[in-house]
Amino acid sequence: MAHPYHHALSSVRKWGGTPEDYIAIHAWFDESKQIIADYRHRALRHHAEGIFMAEKIFGVTVTLSTGRIIPTRWVGEQHVREDLGRIPSFADWVRAIRPEPWMGRSTTIGLEDDPRREVHP
Ligand SMILES: [Zn+2]
Repeated sequence: MAHPYHHALSSVRKWGGTPEDYIAIHAWFDESKQIIADYRHRALRHHAEGIFMAEKIFGVTVTLSTGRIIPTRWVGEQHVREDLGRIPSFADWVRAIRPEPWMGRSTTIGLEDDPRREVHP
C-alpha cells in the first residue's frame, strides 16, 4: 500500500515543488487507515466525492513552493488513480457492501422514551 510520502513524490514528478507541498493532501486521503488497517479504509475518501471534499478542505488550488498554482483536485485524482487504477464513485463502493439487517433498522424518533407511549408486549 502506497504511503502518502510516496504519493507526494509522485506529485513532485508531475507538477514540481517539494513533497511538503502535497503531503497534507495525500495524508488526508489515507487517514482512514486509523479506522481500518487494510485496503477497505479507502471506501471513506478514495472516490469522486472524496476528491471534491479534499477541495473543500484544502481550497480549490494548491500554491507550490515554486509559485506554481495547480488545482487541488488534480492531486486527489492522482492519489486515487495510483491506489485504485481509476476514480470510482461512492456508489461503486456502496455496491460492494453486503447489506445487514441492522443497517436498515428504524425506530419512531422521539417516542422511544415517552412515558405516555403504550407498550405492547
Ligand atoms: Zn490512498
